[in-house]
Formats: sequence, structure tokens, C-alpha cells
Amino acid sequence: MIVVTWGAVSDTGRVRARNEDAVLAQDPVFVVADGMGGYRGGATASRIAVETFREILDLPRVRAADIPPQLRAAHDAIRRQAGIEPASASMGTTAVGLTLVHEDGAAYWLAFNVGDSRLYRLHEGVLSQISVDHSYVQELVHAGFLAPDEARLHPERSVITRALGVADGSDADFWVFPAEAGERFLLCSDGLSGELDDVDIAAALTAGEGPQETAARLVTAANEAGGRDNISVIVVDVAGTPDAELDAPTADRPRSAPGSGAGSTPDPTSGSSPDPVPEIT
Ligand code: CA
Repeated sequence: MIVVTWGAVSDTGRVRARNEDAVLAQDPVFVVADGMGGYRGGATASRIAVETFREILDLPRVRAADIPPQLRAAHDAIRRQAGIEPASASMGTTAVGLTLVHEDGAAYWLAFNVGDSRLYRLHEGVLSQISVDHSYVQELVHAGFLAPDEARLHPERSVITRALGVADGSDADFWVFPAEAGERFLLCSDGLSGELDDVDIAAALTAGEGPQETAARLVTAANEAGGRDNISVIVVDVAGTPDAELDAPTADRPRSAPGSGAGSTPDPTSGSSPDPVPEIT
């Protein structure tokens, strides 16, 4: 049985006037969306993406095949809204997600990505980036024209090559892998990964704190490093082991432990640090 706990924070940062990111953090669906495109458009697009993924929560058990249609639905809904609001005609959003799915009695993670929000996995002290950015600088890195550590500071680092809601280029990448006890995942918008390098991120993730405290720590660090963009972070911890009980007809979807989850226990000592955001911003 896999038991998932999590924490989430979405923060405007220190420079932007509005937060155009949106977050969905509720077992078994975790999504960070970073909107873009005109006045109000970005916030609308990211909110639509997250609202569309919220529908997954109504399913008794999520399967891998449930996710691609939801991405298409989010894309279509953003396109429809863009048609209604001329000022937001060019809006779109990134979406990086992690969903606990069940196939043949075993628990798997299905991860997906469109754009440059990111998914990282920490396991046995090793941090790895699972998602691959759909961005101009990632294309340069892939082609060998730019070193990976130069990409984070490149002047065109925020130019993305795919997004939901964009007419040409909304395809997602997918990854499927077994859920494993001891894993910790980080989903974030580029307001985090643009301010902190992998060493800083790994240090925060291994500081020995719970997921909510860790999410707050990461956002505080990104703000201290400049906070030039909206910063959204979800930290997901995995405990337990996959087993065949899930195949039993009466078995329910694995639930999170009581009291777990974002916002259930806001850190009273957080002071001026950002508010926990349990679901949508
Ligand atoms: Ca951003």
C-alpha cells in the first residue's frame, strides 16, 4: 500500500504583481501550471488546467489512460476561453503533473509535462530531474550549443516551445514508473528552478523536514534569491510498499494518512513566509 503525503505553496514572488501559477495538490493528482499570455490570460489558463485535472479526483481509481484525455480537455477548454476573451487570445499554460495510477494491482506514477515547469525525484539522496523542459534553451542544450548550467541564466530562458492552449505545440511527454517507498518528488514552476540550482534544491529537500515545511523552505529560498517570478512548489512524499491488495474488488484507492496534505498543518513559525496553498491559487 502506497501512502502519500504532501505540501504545497504558491507565491507571487517579489517582483510580479499577480500570481499566474495554479496548483492542484490532492492525492492522487499533483499538478503545477504556470500561465502566460496577456492581461489576466495567464492566470485564467493555469486555473482552467488545474480545474480540468480536478475532475480526476471524482474517479474511483485512476488509470494511466485517464490522463491524456484530461490534458486534451484542458487544452480545448483554454482554447474555447481564448476565443471568448480577445484580450487573452494568446493565453496558454505549462502543466507538469504526477498522478498515482493503478495497473494490474500495482501502484505506478504517471508523470506528464508540457512546457518548462519541472518534476524532480529524490531517492536515496540523489536528485534527478524527470521532466525535460520544452524550451528554447533546452533545445540549445540538446543540440550541444549551450551547457546545462548556462541555461538557467540565459536571457531567453523563459521562451517555451510547448504549452496547453497553444494552437501548434501542446503535446505532452509522459513517464510511467513504479511507486516506491522513500521517494520524494518536487513539482515546481520556473520561478523556483530559475532562482535555485540543483544543489540548492537538493539541500532543501534533504533538510529533514516534512513536505509542507520543505515546500515553504524552497519558496523562501527562491524569494531570497530574487523572487523574480511566481513560485509554485509541491513536495510529495511516498511511504509504504506497492502490493497486490489493490487488486481486490473491495480495495479502495489508497488514501493519504489522516491529517496529511497541504495546508492541514500550516507552520505556525513561518512568519512572513508564503501562505500554504492547498489547491488552486
Ligand atoms: Ca513562470
